[in-house]
Amino acid sequence: MTFKKILIANRGEIALRIHRACQEMGIGTVAIHSTADSEAMHVRLANESVCIGPAAAKDSYLKIPAILSAATISAVDAIHPGVGFLSENAEFAAMVEEHHFAFIGPTPEHIRIMGDKITAKETIKNLGIPVVPGSEGTLTSLKEALKSAEHIGYPVIIKATSGGGGKGMKVAYNSSELEESLRLAKSEASVNFGNDEVYLEKYLGKPRHIEVQIIADTFGNVLHLGERDCSLQRRHQKVWEEAPSPALDETRRVQLGEMVRQAISKMGYRGVGTLEFLYEKGKFYFIEMNTRLQVEHPITEMITGIDLVREQIRVAMGKPLTLRQEDIKFLGHAIECRINAEHPETFMPSPGRITEYHTPGGLGVRVDSGLYSGYQILPYYDSLVSKLIVHGDNRQQCIQRLRRALDEYVISGVETLLPLHKRLATEPDVIAGQYDIHWLEKMLKGEVDQAA
Ligand code: ADP
Repeated sequence: MTFKKILIANRGEIALRIHRACQEMGIGTVAIHSTADSEAMHVRLANESVCIGPAAAKDSYLKIPAILSAATISAVDAIHPGVGFLSENAEFAAMVEEHHFAFIGPTPEHIRIMGDKITAKETIKNLGIPVVPGSEGTLTSLKEALKSAEHIGYPVIIKATSGGGGKGMKVAYNSSELEESLRLAKSEASVNFGNDEVYLEKYLGKPRHIEVQIIADTFGNVLHLGERDCSLQRRHQKVWEEAPSPALDETRRVQLGEMVRQAISKMGYRGVGTLEFLYEKGKFYFIEMNTRLQVEHPITEMITGIDLVREQIRVAMGKPLTLRQEDIKFLGHAIECRINAEHPETFMPSPGRITEYHTPGGLGVRVDSGLYSGYQILPYYDSLVSKLIVHGDNRQQCIQRLRRALDEYVISGVETLLPLHKRLATEPDVIAGQYDIHWLEKMLKGEVDQAA
């Protein structure tokens, strides 16, 4: 099977990223957009576009019947869900297939299994991968939560089973805090995910977030494409990512990759996916699997030279992977900075018109963004407006290049996280690669030794 035309069910930089892969493969693209997004770059560059509804995401980018209608009238072969929105919605994936379009992603069943963090943990544990110690299934009462926390030992973290984006998580340091944490996590989960089911896990004190990229075809071939370190986070959300992780040596890297590859091989999984781990005191603990492309996928592309979206599309067309594990070579170091339209200190969203825009360039510099001078950043959607990705022969060169690229980058008219990234790139702990998932929040509170 080959695809002639793909509908991209997303917006912003990720829609553009998918469009680029399609164009290079000679595949036509159909952009969908809300009324507010008619001037967006992904709409301007796509071969065709269909307006599917008003600004609010629930009436457009999340509206399944509107998307399927757009796919039908534009006669596409396949739908790429991108990142966020419907990308991990099993019902959407199933409906796409029922309407005889190919879904560029895993089977609805695998999306469903991994979309529920408890089933995900059970499945992965049964495949021989260690998971963070936690409650058996969802918590049905405070009594059960207390018993489970006592068994695991404090501190514990209450997490939403259908959580995402760092929401619905609350830490309890002792039994008296547990009731309140349980209540807050449940209400946050219910508001954000329409499901108030929560579970409990040991809260790790100083872990790093390390994740493994995999890709699998429908012939049983599975490759791991190395790890990414996403420990620099704020409110459990990634801010800066790098590959490879400065915390792993070659032996651990190979062990981790192989462990994941073998487990996924047993699942009959198809497409790209990421297994996320917390890494503490030399041990890996699985936390969740994302059954889609990830925002930080470009750093893996930079160190492997593999176009992940192209491979994703090839797998969806039923083609076998052309590479074997031994062909994958990891070259140099890559860092991605998430540039959100937010105030760099208060993190308040900063929508508005871009008055001046200049992107950095030169060897090893990549910008994935739909921004342009005159573009209006909208208040309705995610504040991630650009990703600056830099590659170097080694970590030190990569950081030097990153500083240079950040200095060249001009985005005027709105506040962005550019100043925060400039600061991070000069912080001694960051330069030394010594940080855990709490480091960035401590830095923001002035609790770490500052750069000279
Ligand atoms: P989400 O799906 O909302 O992104 P994750 O389960 O992937 O949630 O966790 C997001 C982040 O929250 C992790 O990268 C880590 O920083 C933090 N976190 C999650 N579970 C734990 C835990 N058991 N102990 C400490 N931190 C955790």
